[in-house]
Order: sequence, then structure tokens, then C-alpha cells
Amino acid sequence: MERDQELANFPKGLAEQYKKLRTIKRTGPAIVPIRKEQCSGCHMKVSQNTINEVRRGQKLMTCESCSRILYIEEVLTDASSEQRAASS
Ligand SMILES: [Zn+2]
Repeated sequence: MERDQELANFPKGLAEQYKKLRTIKRTGPAIVPIRKEQCSGCHMKVSQNTINEVRRGQKLMTCESCSRILYIEEVLTDASSEQRAASS
């Protein structure tokens, strides 16, 4: 069940891509947040281009160093707080 909760953080399109990846790789790829422009899995700097793609949310981006799937926590947080501000 925890895996599905992880997917809840994903835009729907990305969740679909993730499921496909999980089907291909038996163990399934890990998903790690980008923090301070670093992959929090291996702490290598993530390229700006990769960050931009993750922000756009159209593509599933993986860390060039450790191949974990990357997402940005800040974007999700910002979006939810904006929605709250708009509804009030
Ligand atoms: Zn990494």
C-alpha cells in the first residue's frame, strides 16, 4: 500500500510511466526527491535541464548517477498552498 501512496504524489501521467518502469524492472526503481538541486538518493548535483523537466511534470526523469526516479517536493507543496489561497 505504501507504494501506491508514493504514486499519489505523482501527476497521473508520471504515475503511469512509473508503473511501466516497475513492470520492466522486477524490483522497481526507487523514487527520490530533489533537494537543493541534488538527488537525495546519491547526493549528486542534478542538472538544471533535468530539474526543469521534472518541474514541468511531463516526463519521468531519472538521476544520471544512480538512475533513481526524481521528483520535486517543493512544487507539490507550492501547488497545494496556492490552491488553498485561491479557495479562501
Ligand atoms: Zn542519484
